[in-house]
Amino acid sequence: MCTFTGAIRVLFQALSDMTSQERQVLQKKITETIVKMEKEVERLEEATQPISPENSIGRVSRMDAINNKGVSEAALRSSRRKLSSLRLALTKVDHPDFGLCSRCKQPIPPARLMYMPESTRCVRCADR
Ligand SMILES: [Zn+2]
Repeated sequence: MCTFTGAIRVLFQALSDMTSQERQVLQKKITETIVKMEKEVERLEEATQPISPENSIGRVSRMDAINNKGVSEAALRSSRRKLSSLRLALTKVDHPDFGLCSRCKQPIPPARLMYMPESTRCVRCADR
């Protein structure tokens, strides 16, 4: 990175509502959540493997297995969605616009970002 871009970046960070320290904390938090979600997706992928018809678990257990599989599939879909928004959030965490609501452009409270780093809207706008 050239010095000029670096200086601009520092300036932007100073101007934005989120301090660079807050960004660092958030970046760490997002990275940790990504690792956790990757493990979760892996686990769910295993849980959603096709149930082999020849296995000897009996009819009732098999029904259970099919039900559980449905639940896991739904969880897998939402985990994958969350994972991709987290990865996106991680690429944008250094951006001056990060932490601003995509709708009203007001800063999203850092507490909300810590809880849901993938959120791109403030609480008010997310509810609409
Ligand atoms: Zn908003």
